[in-house]
Amino acid sequence: MRTRIRNARVFDGLTTTAQADVLIDGGRIAAPDDLPADVEIDGSGKTLLPGLIDAHTHVFDGDLAQALRFGVTTELDMFCLPGNLARQRRAAADHDDVADLRSSGVLATAPGGHPSQIMDAPGVRDLGDAAGPFDTVADASQAKGFVEARLAEGADYLKIVIDNGHVGGLDLPVLSPETVTALVEAGHAAGLQAIAHAVTTRDALVALDAGVDGLAHVVTDPLTDDLAARIAAQGVFVVSTLTYFEAVLNDPSGAELVRDERIGSKLSDQAKAALDRDGSVIPVHPDGVRNAVQAVGTLHRAGVALLAGTDANPWAPLHGASMHREVLLLTEAGLSAEEALAAATSLPARRFGLADRGRIAPGLRADLLLVDGDPTTDITATRAISEVWRRGVRQAR
Ligand SMILES: [Zn+2]
Repeated sequence: MRTRIRNARVFDGLTTTAQADVLIDGGRIAAPDDLPADVEIDGSGKTLLPGLIDAHTHVFDGDLAQALRFGVTTELDMFCLPGNLARQRRAAADHDDVADLRSSGVLATAPGGHPSQIMDAPGVRDLGDAAGPFDTVADASQAKGFVEARLAEGADYLKIVIDNGHVGGLDLPVLSPETVTALVEAGHAAGLQAIAHAVTTRDALVALDAGVDGLAHVVTDPLTDDLAARIAAQGVFVVSTLTYFEAVLNDPSGAELVRDERIGSKLSDQAKAALDRDGSVIPVHPDGVRNAVQAVGTLHRAGVALLAGTDANPWAPLHGASMHREVLLLTEAGLSAEEALAAATSLPARRFGLADRGRIAPGLRADLLLVDGDPTTDITATRAISEVWRRGVRQAR
């Protein structure tokens, strides 16, 4: 099966070409040629992009299907329990109507540490085997065994939580700096990148001292230029998750997303209802939204690699849909539209070693998004979805 998209503007993950043809041959992008295609699609007035990659999510049943409807072709899960993870991996391998995923599997936290307090909430218990008890790390001597257990589950990277909850008025057990360092070292020895959850400067410094590869959030207390410079100097990437802080802090600005017909019309009533969430059990600075947007701007100016990620979960942010607000917020924080699109495509692919995706080039996976208009000048045009392909399979409208 060969499909040719003709005369589209093409953002290839890095730069934009005003008009080009792109050929899909089976599950791959092929070099354009003059051979006849089975399907021809007129791309005039439209823009073709690599499928979006959400660099921070938590996947439960149905989420990967919803993500793909909104053009997110790969989700990077940052905490998933073993039974659920096996089920989601099977779905992603066997079906072409769901997004692909990578996952840390179980995250590393202290016994009773974040997010244990969320796992005990009534709505979470309804998630069954996806919310049961999970392995924790009491001290540095347990780091190696914890990483080995994650490898056995097929983890793609290691997620480490450094969060005593104080910034949000909670008091939670937290990994010691020595234990964080032991986990990062054990992860690296096993070939796994280490990605830390830290939402304060204090905790981000523990992560940086330990030698992590990435931060799963921007910090929500005021970020200093010194910290930004340190993150840049260490080559650490940062996942934005601005829509997450909006959701947790019930910032009313985020509601524009579902009021946008291009998004709202594709969401179930259940998904819309999930926007209301009780964020009181989640540690975030009270001024977290404003601080986080400023942090993204400061990190960007410091040359830090920013990856678009929502922290989509069973409530808000919403799988797939919220990526279209995340990239808008990245531009409001100071990234150009093309930079925000790269943060949602080529950059996460590169930083997570996904060499087969994130760009439009011959030989790569045909994970593609065709939208009306020009998101390289108006970022909200990503919401005007015309077509989505996953591994070359054109999705139903
Ligand atoms: Zn998360």
